[in-house]
Amino acid sequence: MGNIQVAIDGPAGAGKSTIAKLVSRRMGIIYIDTGAMYRAVALKAIRQGINTQDRERVSQMVNNIDIKIEHAGNEQVIYLDGEDVSGKIRIPEVSVGASNVASIPEVRLKMVDLQRKIARSSSVVMDGRDIGTYVLPDAKYKFFLTASVEERAKRRYQELVEKGITNISLEEVKKDIEYRDMNDASRELAPLVKAKDAIEIDTTCLTAEEVADKIMVHIGESKC
Ligand code: C5P
Repeated sequence: MGNIQVAIDGPAGAGKSTIAKLVSRRMGIIYIDTGAMYRAVALKAIRQGINTQDRERVSQMVNNIDIKIEHAGNEQVIYLDGEDVSGKIRIPEVSVGASNVASIPEVRLKMVDLQRKIARSSSVVMDGRDIGTYVLPDAKYKFFLTASVEERAKRRYQELVEKGITNISLEEVKKDIEYRDMNDASRELAPLVKAKDAIEIDTTCLTAEEVADKIMVHIGESKC
């Protein structure tokens, strides 16, 4: 039997990572947060003083980058050139940078290659923007999570506060999210768009557990 593939896509703050983690735990398979890969690329560019919108320099840089994903329990650990950068990639500057580098085709092709390799080697719940449309178009289970921009900004702001990042206001977080939505939806290669065969779930008024329940019902139902 082939590997199981569950694709969870949607805009920033729709709850993808939390929900993908819950679903992966319930299914007993690994969880891959593909956004972390673009964040690691952005972190490297920022550290090297490279403008994250500079296609030529960023694509040169990704020729020589080593990104690895491992799992510690149900947590994903991401390594950039051998360094664990899991915590360092969550700051707002890296979020915006990730959206910029993600619109560079050379970066996407390299990350997508890595993502497909992982999905070939094991069953996965993979979250991102283009998993159901581009990375794993044959995934058996596809979900597209949405939520109002106000709710998504509130969630991201809360996460930042919990991590001790307090030098950004709720309004600034909302602006970053709007910028990324626009950037992610308008890029040429693999833009953020719902796959035709994905099930859309509006998470605005639902808890993560409730969304995971809905997803598990769909997965359970389609097995019958
Ligand atoms: O999901 P997260 O917010 O961590 O992703 C950071 C950025 O990486 C997104 O704004 C998006 O531009 C990019 N991304 C992408 N394709 C994916 C996952 C993330 O373009 N599959």
